[in-house]
Amino acid sequence: MPDYMFLLESRLSPEQRAAMLRVQELAAVLGFNVYLTGGTVRDLITGANLRDLDFTVEGNPSKMARELEKGGAKVLSEDEKLRHVELLFAGDVEGSISAARDEHYVRPGTRPEIRWSTIMEDLRRRDFSLNAIAISLNPASRGLLLDPTNGLSDIEHGEVRALSIHSFTNQPVRLLRALRLAARMGFKLESRTQEWFNLAIERELQLTITPEDAGEEVRSLSREERPQLILKEWEEGDLLELVHPILAKKHPGYDAINRLIKVRDDLYMAGFRPRLATPMLLAIFSRLKDRELSNTLSKLGYRSAEIEAIEKFPEKALDIQKELAGKKTKTPIDAYRYIEKIPMEYVAYLLAESSNSAALSKLKAFLHKWRPVRQALPIVATELEALGMPRGPKFDQIVQDVFAIQLNGRAKTPEERVKILRKLSGIKEPPKKKEKEKKPAKAEKHVETPAEKKAAAAEKHATHERHKAGMKAAAAKHKGKK
Ligand code: ATP
Ligand code: MG
Repeated sequence: MPDYMFLLESRLSPEQRAAMLRVQELAAVLGFNVYLTGGTVRDLITGANLRDLDFTVEGNPSKMARELEKGGAKVLSEDEKLRHVELLFAGDVEGSISAARDEHYVRPGTRPEIRWSTIMEDLRRRDFSLNAIAISLNPASRGLLLDPTNGLSDIEHGEVRALSIHSFTNQPVRLLRALRLAARMGFKLESRTQEWFNLAIERELQLTITPEDAGEEVRSLSREERPQLILKEWEEGDLLELVHPILAKKHPGYDAINRLIKVRDDLYMAGFRPRLATPMLLAIFSRLKDRELSNTLSKLGYRSAEIEAIEKFPEKALDIQKELAGKKTKTPIDAYRYIEKIPMEYVAYLLAESSNSAALSKLKAFLHKWRPVRQALPIVATELEALGMPRGPKFDQIVQDVFAIQLNGRAKTPEERVKILRKLSGIKEPPKKKEKEKKPAKAEKHVETPAEKKAAAAEKHATHERHKAGMKAAAAKHKGKK
């Protein structure tokens, strides 16, 4: 058996790892069995980005949610009936915890009856085999892969396979999901699944997808890495109309999507991994008028606060653009301080959509010039420390001053920086060579402890005195003291 625990730990970010350990610990304390499930396991196996951590517990996750909240996690949403909690763990780690459940459809297409179940039953009620795999996080079986529907093999064959002939009948939204997953992963529908899919379309089951379910798909779509691939599949399958007739008629904003994706790749290169759901949503719907967008979102079950935030997003971006073109951000350091506080999704949006050259050049300088300088700032601190400056508020201020100077294109070489650091700190050049030769041991010694610093200060003072009074007098003084 491959060591999935090893695979997992090597693929998780430190923050994700901490979140997983916390959930594991809590489940053990509360006596629940806990598993990693769904997209997390699928993405782990396929090598895709681990965006979020989906946990399933054999028990009620609400107690765990309360405990996690105490530790600083945020509950983003909680469905008590479904026993499903969406969370933001410390370090911005997205995740969810669900109770293991089985679903029984009294009539196809209606809401299923729910029964709390074991993990195996939970996996079997899922949509596609590649989503029905779990990894145990329990002490006795940590790392064990549970794959009751042979999803691993489907992943190897690059196929999306529905788990039952009733899959699309029971939940027609799975028509959208099937195409989304296949397009995202570059998979095809397994042959029988394709037949069931075609049959469902023939029977026009797609028309029974509820707007709320379609809305959930739109939400997921806006979080996708390459939504254009999915939109094309939906368009070709005549399913886009289900999302909204106007979107189908006017078509998605493919150009805007591509611009944003280019910017996102650029941001990745610069070390940022921003969440771009809102700008992506705006790009997808960019051919719709404002009124059409809010109507569409409202029909898709977006809450009014969400719609308002989405509508206001471009206005806010415009305010930011104004600031970037204005006096307050005239110097590089002021621009830097301003941009570092802007949420990255606005930076991305402006880079993709703005045509204001002043704003754009500052944003680009921030990413490609200023940030690298900022990241190298610890070197300046080391240089200053090497000159003998003790750490403290004044020290920090000097480092910041040097940073501002560097943003103006100066202090690039170590020699130039040392000169500037001496000037700012008032630390003079070391004594001339002659002096050094006289006391090689002391000159070489690195000043570290307060006692040494004191000694060095005394020495400096003494040297100064010697120069002032002349070597003879100083020697006499020295002798006299002895
Ligand atoms: P993503 O990377 O988009 O988060 P995901 O597979 O995790 O992908 P979610 O919508 O978070 O997608 O769903 C989590 C899991 O819940 C899925 O992997 C799947 O096992 C199950 N699931 C989601 N929607 C359905 C559905 N309509 N029918 C059956 N199972 C579903
Ligand atoms: Mg998920």
